[in-house]
Amino acid sequence: SRRLEGKVAIITGGASGIGACTAKLFVVHGAKVIIADVQDDLGLSLCKEIASENISYVHCDVTNDSDVKNLVDIAISKYEKLDIMYSNAGITGQHKMSILEAENDDFKKIIDVNLYGGFLCAKYAARTMVPAKKGVILFTSSNSSVTSGIGSHAYVASKSGIVGLAKNLCVDLGLHGIRVNCISPFFVATPMLTKHFGFINTLNFGKIMLNKLYNSVSVLKGSVLEAEDVAETALYLASDESRIISGQNIVIDGGYSVT
Ligand code: NAD
Repeated sequence: SRRLEGKVAIITGGASGIGACTAKLFVVHGAKVIIADVQDDLGLSLCKEIASENISYVHCDVTNDSDVKNLVDIAISKYEKLDIMYSNAGITGQHKMSILEAENDDFKKIIDVNLYGGFLCAKYAARTMVPAKKGVILFTSSNSSVTSGIGSHAYVASKSGIVGLAKNLCVDLGLHGIRVNCISPFFVATPMLTKHFGFINTLNFGKIMLNKLYNSVSVLKGSVLEAEDVAETALYLASDESRIISGQNIVIDGGYSVT
């Protein structure tokens, strides 16, 4: 059955990886989806590939207030409502092992996209959802929000910060019928991962590396975490099936974080 029939969704970072995969799944489930990104060519070609009247692309830098406002305005003028805001755009930046080598500007840039960008998306989504008395806000955090050891300082701080923001919004917006949750995946084979580990230059090689890592987690043994695993969780959290779930950080890691 189609689990998002008639719902209107925005997915930021929707041109690539997890966002693109989620956009496809949401459309299959009957949603009208607007993907927002800074990679215009990729976003437009994804729309062509999905080939549905229910998918469209909007250029939006999530760190830019007027871009985010414009994005939500487009959803309202096109569909007259916004049911789901999936704030998923993110960057990793340099992977640095010690704060001794950390650059101030790298830190600010990552916080800007991963945390401030999420704040702006939530703010403009809430402005339309509160009068409607319903809505779902989702964020892509990371398993590094619970394990902390993997990723740069800025990345871990931004991804932990977004979990705090989601909890606060859960309380702030709950009485208005709005649910807010985070999705925290372990390593997923997407273009981001290829960039993150500079020495991995093909996704296929990335998968081989991931397989080795995942062999330490029994549930994942012999398989890697795919963007689909994240998209299925987003589908559940976006649908009415999760109507009582709010303020949570769902970790998708086969149990890695508790080993
Ligand atoms: P990706 O690089 O394939 O996709 C991220 C998208 O975000 C890109 O299309 C990029 O253009 C877009 N983006 C970057 N900055 C932006 C900005 N300022 N405004 C609008 N869009 C912007 O990577 P992905 O793996 O699909 O990442 C999606 C989310 O998942 C990110 O938040 C990432 O931190 C998170 N995540 C990824 C992994 C992983 O292993 N791949 C693990 C945990 C969490």
